[in-house]
Amino acid sequence: MVSGNPAAPARPPLPATAGVVFNIQRFSLHDGPGIRTVVFLKGCPLACPWCANPESINPGIERLLDPSTGETTLAGQTRTLAEVVKECEADRPFFEQSGGGVTVSGGEPMMQHAFTTALLQELRQRGIHTAMESTGQVAPQLFDRALSHLDYLLMDVKHHDRKAHKAWTGSYNDLPLCNLSRALKRGIRTQVRIPVIPGVNDTLADAAGFSALLHALGIGHVQLLPFHQFGERKYALLGRPYRMAGVAALHPEDLSDYRDVMVHAGINAFF
Ligand code: SF4
Repeated sequence: MVSGNPAAPARPPLPATAGVVFNIQRFSLHDGPGIRTVVFLKGCPLACPWCANPESINPGIERLLDPSTGETTLAGQTRTLAEVVKECEADRPFFEQSGGGVTVSGGEPMMQHAFTTALLQELRQRGIHTAMESTGQVAPQLFDRALSHLDYLLMDVKHHDRKAHKAWTGSYNDLPLCNLSRALKRGIRTQVRIPVIPGVNDTLADAAGFSALLHALGIGHVQLLPFHQFGERKYALLGRPYRMAGVAALHPEDLSDYRDVMVHAGINAFF
């Protein structure tokens, strides 16, 4: 794993048969086609200040402390592959009715590449549609292994400018774009998304920059994800500063000019 996140401590690799999971969310409608069960894995090589799941960044199991009540909860649990597959299998009727399946997310699921690849392989062998939500910040040969068992890829492109990408996330966008190209060349159905963040990538010049980048990649549609502050409270529970405190949330109507720039450039941008 290529990490730009100096805060992420090293953790001995888990075998492919076990992973550190921080949530399994059922009945999701926003993480790929149909009704999906989303398996959230711990660990991320990036460090985006707007991260809505800050408990996903550290690859280890963490304790969250509510300073107002003194109550603690754990973020992360070691789960076996068999346990996770069994939990996903319980939702098979919903997958079959809706054209859904399982999405492996994070953090960055490829931080636990052996577990993620084994999970995708097992699910697909059972006839369950597989999706992965990835930053693409992973060595291409590892990414390729996961792609071999993947039906659908969700990838955020966080900045069109490589220096700005590094300044905001800790890493250049070279690897994510390289891996995105590889997925597209393999014909994997892919949904690219742009988290639009005030002061980071929300100007009309940014919209034009993203449009040019997407054109160069041969991508004609993109989902815009307006900034929100849903994760703010978790920073307090983790005892970490929230760098986006006081930054106003964005709504689709705030981004109509932004979207128009992309549409006029030939990119089908939607919310
Ligand atoms: S890539 Fe995603 S999970 Fe990782 S720090 Fe950024 S927003 Fe959070």
